[in-house]
Amino acid sequence: MRSLRLSLTDRCNLRCSYCMPRAHYCWLPKQDLLDFEELERLVAAFTALGVSRLRLTGGEPLLRRRLPALVARLHGAPLEDLALTTNGVLLQDQAEALIAAGVNRITVSLDTLQPARFRSLTRSQEHARVLRGIEAAASLGVSELKLNAVVVRGFNDDELEDLLAYGAEVGAEVRFIEYMDVGGATQWSRDRVVSGAEILARLETSLGPVRPMGRTRPSATALRYSVAESTFGLVRSTTAPFCADCDRSRVTADGQWLHCLYASRGLDLRRELRRGASDAELRALLSREWSRRDARGAEERAAEAEREPWRGEDELRARPHLEMHTRGG
Ligand code: SAM
Ligand code: SF4
Repeated sequence: MRSLRLSLTDRCNLRCSYCMPRAHYCWLPKQDLLDFEELERLVAAFTALGVSRLRLTGGEPLLRRRLPALVARLHGAPLEDLALTTNGVLLQDQAEALIAAGVNRITVSLDTLQPARFRSLTRSQEHARVLRGIEAAASLGVSELKLNAVVVRGFNDDELEDLLAYGAEVGAEVRFIEYMDVGGATQWSRDRVVSGAEILARLETSLGPVRPMGRTRPSATALRYSVAESTFGLVRSTTAPFCADCDRSRVTADGQWLHCLYASRGLDLRRELRRGASDAELRALLSREWSRRDARGAEERAAEAEREPWRGEDELRARPHLEMHTRGG
């Protein structure tokens, strides 16, 4: 147990079609969202058990009110790393305060450099604002800035080189992510996945030799490579899952603890917090449950011969905790 992804809200100001393809959603009740004190207690319990890397996510985490104040509180925990994944729309306004409060790594999702494609993917006009957010974070000198690009065949697979060039221009490393069949990816199909192997082959053809650089640590999701003047990461979660090395778990904004991105059910930590569990009881519960963990969801999915979207729309509507935007990606 080393990495924790903490979702701060299930709400989002974009509607990326691989994550939130529908028009209407069942949102988590506001009173169920963990408050700052509850989040701080949870993070303390997790760090006491070995978590040293915390990533704030969502939904869109920058929609969470007073986020810099929350970051400052969480920054008090003994963490090696306090990271944030954002769609970047609100980053220009918040980057400075977030970095000052203790965020040391920012990952911005950027799938396309073309405003028209961005509009069709996200149903939003905010492409220029996302780029301004990225550039603001870069100019403030955040210690690590990454750009996440989900590669979808027929949508952005002709932009790999352009995304690398943009990353180099702003000083951010691009991570190409295989399109996953999780949560709201109800339009997922195998033929729209551009495999990591194909991404490498394409870049080798267009830019020259691609050299493996390994992982930054054994449990890192991305394999890193260099090509021409750039380095980039590749997350092969669909075609070459890495469950055996996974040290991550997730907490939804309402306190469900998930041992795997594909977990069907989580453990209700909000109930424990609100029934008055002591810190020692919380730690004992986390420790007991983690020792029983046998999650290998992505490997099980990869082994399926007829791979369809993970869940249908009706089930997602009835069980919002299965949504990618609820579990935090
Ligand atoms: N809203 C923030 C953002 O977009 O960066 C944080 C939450 S989002 C769920 C976290 C990450 O999950 C994003 O980088 C997004 O691209 C990725 N993601 C969502 N759906 C995906 C899918 N079907 N396959 C691969 N990655 C996906
Ligand atoms: Fe897009 Fe992130 Fe919002 Fe999902 S949660 S719709 S990936 S911006």
